[in-house]
Amino acid sequence: MVRRSKDLSRDVKVIHLTDLHVDRDYSGAGKGKCFLGICCKSTNETSDAQVDLGEWGDAQGCGVPLHTFQNLLQHINESHPDVDYIVWTGDTAAHDSWFQSPAANLETVHVVTELIQKALPDVPVYPAVGNHDIFPINQFPGSDEVVGSGDFWFYKSLASIWKEYIPEDQVQGFRTYGNFVVRPVEGLRIVVLNTNYCYKFNWFTYLDHSDPGKQLEWLDRELKSASDAGDHVHLVSHISPGDEDCLVTWTHHFLRLLHKYRGVVKAQFYGHDHDDRFQVMVGDNDTVLGVAFLGPSLTPLRKMNPAYRIYTVDAHSKEVKMLETWWMDLAEANRKGKPAWRRLYNTVTDYRFRPFTLQDWLGFVDDVRREESLFLDYYRHKSRNWPRPPESCNETCRTLNTCNMIVRDPIKYCGAERCKTKSPEECKDFDYY
Ligand SMILES: [Zn+2]
Repeated sequence: MVRRSKDLSRDVKVIHLTDLHVDRDYSGAGKGKCFLGICCKSTNETSDAQVDLGEWGDAQGCGVPLHTFQNLLQHINESHPDVDYIVWTGDTAAHDSWFQSPAANLETVHVVTELIQKALPDVPVYPAVGNHDIFPINQFPGSDEVVGSGDFWFYKSLASIWKEYIPEDQVQGFRTYGNFVVRPVEGLRIVVLNTNYCYKFNWFTYLDHSDPGKQLEWLDRELKSASDAGDHVHLVSHISPGDEDCLVTWTHHFLRLLHKYRGVVKAQFYGHDHDDRFQVMVGDNDTVLGVAFLGPSLTPLRKMNPAYRIYTVDAHSKEVKMLETWWMDLAEANRKGKPAWRRLYNTVTDYRFRPFTLQDWLGFVDDVRREESLFLDYYRHKSRNWPRPPESCNETCRTLNTCNMIVRDPIKYCGAERCKTKSPEECKDFDYY
């Protein structure tokens, strides 16, 4: 594969992989044994039922077979020789949390990393840690009392698996809190933040509630440094600060940082949600503070087809001016014996949306809310054409699906109603944690 030289006057092409949830024990085509809703293991002595499994994957609680991931890498190699780099936003291990161990989870990341390096040897990769990657699941100690010397076993092992990706001067920081910064092209910094420290199900956040893992303090420093140097920033992490799973106080302070360094953060890339969607982060007077791109999962878990994203980043503004989602029809692949990766949509040609500034994304949200056909496309794309009749999305579903395109300060706007303006009085019963 011949790659383009680092011509700074051209746009940047980025591939976004997320929530691979690879299952190295996927039993393959044939009978799968079920246990606690997971039906993919060939060897499961506690099995309580059996189901038919597809060769290329299955949505019945299963992770992605390794050969499906290899097929994706081969497709990327052949179809996107001009990719500049990959952002990989975590959750590499499967959902079989009760079968996992520290060694097994690290081995999964190791195997997947080696496959990427073998298939795409010249492509830089910027990885973030997902809540499913650690053992026990979700538990990231963030306080100094627990981390102690600054070397946490999980980050220390990952730093060695990802040594090609993490610059030498960033290794110690990564070994402590799992974050780092790179500068892939002139004028752009990628800040890999660890938002597992804002996750409500990380019980360690109860030990250090003000700023678990010091991520906000670190982000403040990094944004100041980028701003002083005149650089723009792309954030890469697993959980979006706009996610309802993120601590309310954390989201509040995160939005304050976006406001403080307005114009510095040009794009944000996250996973965790599995849906193909985006969030517009809005401050006072409907000023857009940022756009979060929530990448589609490779895993079909929660009934969606495997997918990945491509972004075109403008050479000068460093904003995402076009995005595409590519998908594979899992039922078709299992029927025909081979996956076919195709473009699902392109924001410019299919949505007729060509943003010039971050503010334009707010108008796009209004269009999706207003235009019936646009909303139905958006809803269908979220699951990558997983068969669901349009009428399955009733009024409540519709409100929820358009509401969660907007993120406002949760201290000022209440919970699930964040997209609506509510007075502080109306918010008074809101649970702040
Ligand atoms: Zn996930």
